[in-house]
Amino acid sequence: MSGCDVIIVGFGYAGGIAAIAAHDAGAHVLLLEKQPDPGGISVCSAGGVRCNDRPDDALAYLVATNAGTTPEPVLRALAEGMCELPGFVGDLAEAIGAKVSLRPAPGNYPFPGYDSFAFINVDTVPDFDPRTTFPTVRGAEAGARLFQVVLENVRRRGIEVRFGMAAERLLVERGRVAGVVANGVELRARGGVVLATGGFEGDAALQRQFWSMTPVLSAAVRSNTGDGLRMAQKAGAGLWHMWHYHGSYGFRHPDSGYPFGVRLKRLPDWVPGTAPRDDVTMSWILVDRAGHRFMNEYEPYVQDTGHRPLDGFDFARLAHPRIPAVLIIDTDGYTHYPLSAPTWHDAGTAARFSEMTPHDFDAAILRHFGTLATLAAAFDLDAAVLAATVADWNALVAANGPDRFGRPIPGRRPIARPPFYAAPVVPIVSNTQGGPVHDADQRVLDAFGVPIPGLYEAGEIGSVFGHIYMSGGNLAECFVGGRIAGRNAAAFASGEQR
Ligand SMILES: Cc1cc2nc3c(=O)[nH]c(=O)nc-3n(C[C@H](O)[C@H](O)[C@H](O)COP(=O)(O)OP(=O)(O)OC[C@H]3O[C@@H](n4cnc5c(N)ncnc54)[C@H](O)[C@@H]3O)c2cc1C
Repeated sequence: MSGCDVIIVGFGYAGGIAAIAAHDAGAHVLLLEKQPDPGGISVCSAGGVRCNDRPDDALAYLVATNAGTTPEPVLRALAEGMCELPGFVGDLAEAIGAKVSLRPAPGNYPFPGYDSFAFINVDTVPDFDPRTTFPTVRGAEAGARLFQVVLENVRRRGIEVRFGMAAERLLVERGRVAGVVANGVELRARGGVVLATGGFEGDAALQRQFWSMTPVLSAAVRSNTGDGLRMAQKAGAGLWHMWHYHGSYGFRHPDSGYPFGVRLKRLPDWVPGTAPRDDVTMSWILVDRAGHRFMNEYEPYVQDTGHRPLDGFDFARLAHPRIPAVLIIDTDGYTHYPLSAPTWHDAGTAARFSEMTPHDFDAAILRHFGTLATLAAAFDLDAAVLAATVADWNALVAANGPDRFGRPIPGRRPIARPPFYAAPVVPIVSNTQGGPVHDADQRVLDAFGVPIPGLYEAGEIGSVFGHIYMSGGNLAECFVGGRIAGRNAAAFASGEQR
């Protein structure tokens, strides 16, 4: 293969959008995907793309949430790109007859500009059934619809996609990235290479080096193993905010054949300074290895930050005191709604678990007990400590008073009616937010901040979010960064881009 301008590695949202952008800029594109099917994590996402129409407000919010971890020009590129997304996503959707809508939605935290944001959602795609098109995926249908829009636009452009092709190394010639080695074959690009290989949620060894908590289970994929990160490092890339990941606490399935963590039902986020909705019910508490509550189980954006309080090490006992923690709920809470909300993009898991409902997951994961004392014994907790913890909790619920961990009043329920249900919970990574550093042109920078010629990245691999994440921000950066990387890699082929 010698006639290609741009090679894109990885076919999630970021790779797909980079391919579309490079193609539309006149480049001959080759898109490589190591899996037999496209979609990565993207296809299981909730599908809401953050956008805005006020770049300065978007920038103010992004600057505050990143707390100095990401240079302002990079955030400005994202902020300005977010303002182009309604038109861009709308055009992609229209090309295949899909319908999109725009829904105002404030950011998660009351930083400057937080009320200027909205979500773009794909509401309908003609003749599309996610279960038949993506049979190895379990996730939100809105994410699958958004991915179908990207996939169909790649197809209609006739972009060459090769599945089952794992990029292994970058070809670097005279200091310039000139292609990749994939499945042992050298593939050359006249222009740039775009790494869009996602993060390292499937690589326990990398996590062990960068994160102090362990184990952390992936929420949905095994295939994102940090390949692009390693390739970029070999080419000299600097790294940023490797500690940061988007995730929460969730269940470890007792069947060792289930390879992922099980996320919990997503309750509505709430903005600090306001209260959660009155109609929310969150009946459970978490206790540590000693039987004490230790965290606000309903943080404002618990799906993102819920894992953080599980970190820490007890130097007297030489153990992680909160991993696993234990989720406890009574029979009223257990029957209110299913707690498990499993997701995956994985053929083996789909083959074994597709027929299982969230109720089936709950039944397999949560054990039930007639008394708190028998529950404590089963989880090796001190029965007296647990009894006191539950009594304190019930008193707090009755008093409607302030919780020392900051758990809001709406949603609280007593743990009173047996049987009591419990399961171990561990940190779960939905996606990683650290990786190779890039500039506002999506060029990968070396450890001294100098662009590595011919090397670009897009999406989660080099996520800009280095402090507090914004819901829907990862999808926004896949689309914005993918467009910029694709265009610039194409320009590099024609000698227009540095
Ligand atoms: C359940 C769930 C829900 C989520 N919901 C949201 C949401 O609503 N909004 C939001 O903003 N974010 C959400 N996220 C995060 C978001 O989905 C991801 O950050 C984003 O989709 C990543 O896109 P990507 O294109 O960078 O990577 P991916 O979609 O993961 O694509 C990377 C691709 O690269 C391939 N690849 C890896 N290595 C190689 C190699 N060596 N050679 C070739 N190919 C390779 C992989 O197989 C994969 O297909 C969610 C995450 C999860 C797990």
